[in-house]
Amino acid sequence: PTQTLVDMMDASVARFGPNAALDFFGETITYTRLGERIDRVAASLAARGVGHGDRVAIVLPNCPQHVIAFYAVLRLGAIVVEHNPLYTADELKHQFEDHGARVAIVWDNTAETVRGFADELGITLIVGVDMTREMPRGTRAMLRLPIAKARSSRAALTSGGLPAGVVAWAALERGARLEAGHPRPALDDIAALQYTSGTTGRPKGAILTHRNLRANAAQGRAWVPGLAEGEEVVYAALPMFHAYGLTLCLTFAMSIGARLVLLPKFTVELVLEVMRRTPATFLPAVPPIYQRLASGAAEKGVSLDGIRFAISGAMSLPVSTVETWEAATGGLLVEGYGMTESSPVAVGNPIGPSRRPGTVGVPFPSTTIRVVDPDDTSIDRGFDEEGELLLHGPQVFQGYWNKPEETAATLLPGGWLRTGDIVTVSPDGFITIVDRIKELVITGGFNVAPSEVEQVLAAHPSIESAAVVGLESPHGGEELVAAVVLAEGATLDVEALREHAKKSLAAYKVPRRFTVLDALPVSLIGKVLRREVREQLQAGSA
Ligand code: ATP
Ligand code: MG
Repeated sequence: PTQTLVDMMDASVARFGPNAALDFFGETITYTRLGERIDRVAASLAARGVGHGDRVAIVLPNCPQHVIAFYAVLRLGAIVVEHNPLYTADELKHQFEDHGARVAIVWDNTAETVRGFADELGITLIVGVDMTREMPRGTRAMLRLPIAKARSSRAALTSGGLPAGVVAWAALERGARLEAGHPRPALDDIAALQYTSGTTGRPKGAILTHRNLRANAAQGRAWVPGLAEGEEVVYAALPMFHAYGLTLCLTFAMSIGARLVLLPKFTVELVLEVMRRTPATFLPAVPPIYQRLASGAAEKGVSLDGIRFAISGAMSLPVSTVETWEAATGGLLVEGYGMTESSPVAVGNPIGPSRRPGTVGVPFPSTTIRVVDPDDTSIDRGFDEEGELLLHGPQVFQGYWNKPEETAATLLPGGWLRTGDIVTVSPDGFITIVDRIKELVITGGFNVAPSEVEQVLAAHPSIESAAVVGLESPHGGEELVAAVVLAEGATLDVEALREHAKKSLAAYKVPRRFTVLDALPVSLIGKVLRREVREQLQAGSA
């Protein structure tokens, strides 16, 4: 690609001007109007000193201001740093210490928190979006619920206007537009510091340039056949602060002139209500969302017809979910794979009859892969042999912010990205994810991939979901422990589960112990956090 994300947005404004770009609870903003609003906010930020290379923190749920802030910051050649809007004060402060942004654009719920550490960290400008006011009556109450149910420790999202010392967002939208000649970013300038999910440790800030992010939007466009540019309706049901939502919802939708339907929070009720009015044609999401939407739609009698493309990633997609979804919509549900460090998509199933459920598909256009020995990356693995996946392509990041050692361990000479994931590749090129290297359990000298065991357990009628981890064994080494969530009305029958597991797993893969949990801890995007499961189990047995 030769365009930056800013050029790409300008092109869409010119090409799709009168079409709706954003749709927030039925209120729409055209591409022309979006371009103007981006311009005014960019001018206001420039007047307040934001310039090339400055980091600007965004702490917002999905809403029009989020999109406007994102492109306004980029227009100035400044760097967007996205945050989970539900992070606690500690988590936010840690992230701000890491990236050092001096300007923050936040929603009312976090304004006070960010102000609390602003002096200490040298934050000089806080802009607040009063979400409670921005949302139509009748929808406001929803933000008071914690967005991620499983993270019940998160404070409830009450809202009480903006504290003193916080500039109201509306002030940024007043005033003149940016001068046309104001310096623009270059293709190799940093566009975003995008934090990883923190599944295996503290989130790390991945440095992504305009070239990286723009490439992935373009690769996505080449991936999806028969896109009707200017006519698609893309749902942002995933949070845009995460790499997945940022590219597959935001920049992808803007590049094809789609109407982007912004949902500040995912609930089945909300999505179905919005679907009745504005049916989606393109829905990127994660497996639990597809499962819950399909059953919710059946219960409520809402049609999901018209969703031609559904793209799943971030965690493995059960084949049963594909069957349920495709029967409900008549469209396709295909799985892809990626990581924050690759902007994020690197692999995807062909969208058509040759896709292969159970695999994540083939490398994206202009992406090459290797499968290697994780202990010596110069040794290549053969077809169907397990090894670590390495990626190479225009979407591969530039390194981690402030983390030279992690960068050196992850980005190999020649620009190869170590994914940390074990995979196999079939002779005709389809990739299957086995598990993360960091989460493999070594028990009795054998490597066990927790996901394989989890899938077997989850297939038992008494089990709703399972997380398998390694805990220190009294006999030395690790032993396999399963934390299970029981299906409604079921009880734990360890003997029955062992018998069931033995039918498809070698003896060393059958968990030694089983523990019942009410729910599995998950990240905001819905990934099971095995690290937290392990901590809970350790605390419980201590
Ligand atoms: P951290 O790097 O902070 O520990 P994370 O790796 O979960 O967190 P992300 O960049 O959001 O952060 O996720 C990338 C990872 O998600 C991949 O490395 C892979 O382990 C997993 N993943 C992505 N897509 C799939 C998929 N389709 N099936 C299975 N796992 C997937
Ligand atoms: Mg990772």
